[in-house]
Amino acid sequence: MDLNFKNKTVLIRVDFNVPLNGNGIITDDTRIRKAIPTINEVLDKGGAVILMSHLGRPLKKLNSNGRINVEKFTLWQVGPRLAELLGRTVGFVQSTVGEAVQMHADNLQPGEVLLLENTRFHKEEAKGDKDFAKSLANLADIYINDAFGTAHRAHASTTTVAEYFPKESKSFGKLMKAEISNAEKIVKGPEKPFVAILGGAKVSDKIQLIEKLLDSCDDIIIGGGMSYTFAKAAGGNIGGSLCEDDYIPLALEVQKKAASKGVNIHLPSDNVIADDFSNSANRKVVDSGNIPDGWEGLDIGPKSVKQFANVVEKAKTIIWNGPLGVFEFENFATGTNAIANMVAGATAKGAYSLIGGGDSVSAINKAGLADKVSFVSTGGGAMLEFLEGKELPGIKAIRE
Ligand code: AMP
Repeated sequence: MDLNFKNKTVLIRVDFNVPLNGNGIITDDTRIRKAIPTINEVLDKGGAVILMSHLGRPLKKLNSNGRINVEKFTLWQVGPRLAELLGRTVGFVQSTVGEAVQMHADNLQPGEVLLLENTRFHKEEAKGDKDFAKSLANLADIYINDAFGTAHRAHASTTTVAEYFPKESKSFGKLMKAEISNAEKIVKGPEKPFVAILGGAKVSDKIQLIEKLLDSCDDIIIGGGMSYTFAKAAGGNIGGSLCEDDYIPLALEVQKKAASKGVNIHLPSDNVIADDFSNSANRKVVDSGNIPDGWEGLDIGPKSVKQFANVVEKAKTIIWNGPLGVFEFENFATGTNAIANMVAGATAKGAYSLIGGGDSVSAINKAGLADKVSFVSTGGGAMLEFLEGKELPGIKAIRE
């Protein structure tokens, strides 16, 4: 960030959308920690900081009286942890825009930090409303976007607000820069062999990415809930496993395209199946496509682990998005943990590895291997869209 922050007020869009338990306790503060370097740089260079973020979906989860559940969604819940990590006090204003906010902003001194209330308390946020964005922009001299996790949304605080700052008064934050340069490594000429490991629940969420990867990958490993649609497409029995019947034709088409482009698609050869969707369900290992009725596949089996290890071992570039099974249940986390270890192992041997946000990040954290891979993205949907080749509105708004 080459801007001059001295005596300037800097509005930073951060991603403080942290997971909270029922008592408002932050269960994972990664997103707050990742925002600290940008905030500190502005403060160290003599600026004052105004922070804005969303938290949850307050307008979709209104109280029974039709009002916002302020207690559940107030951004003040991150205030104490933020102050602790910054080692300084953080001011909070119970609004996002308006007279009180403007007054606080106008009186803010260099070295001070002001946190605004949840941007999603206002319907104008998601609409990218110009007046709302202008009120936000009026608070500061400089705008920084460091919220990669919401860069795929054309919201007021992520995109529209940038219109009110000249090019020389807006910038990406340090986290956003790192996210972009790592994602670009994948998009612009990854070192070969390039292996993608894709899991998670749905084919529909990942099909665009698969199609895009057919242009650059050597190998695509498909596991998790989405693999059963492929198994069914191949004529197998999948019992009660997750399946998107509508996507069977696309699953077949993608495999045809892959074959014509010389891309190897690797599907699990066996699965750990369960007679119930629970950690304590009875388990057994069967070959893929041989899942009896009354059972469902919740993990990849040991043969698949070996099969995938042979592919990952040779990789020079790896992206991993989505767990290979229901890793939240310890008894069905073996395959996902094995993948985490494979990716860490390949990284130790010199491969570049990017963990693409969302549940694969929880999985790599759970396996204690987050510092053994090259980059762990904070953006689930945003990273997917970036890798699909889309131009993210939050990124475009800063570049324009
Ligand atoms: P996604 O958000 O699409 O990456 O999906 C992540 C979710 O997929 C996790 O909550 C996993 O528990 C779930 N998942 C992975 N494999 C399976 C499976 N075989 N059956 C049901 N859910 C799965």
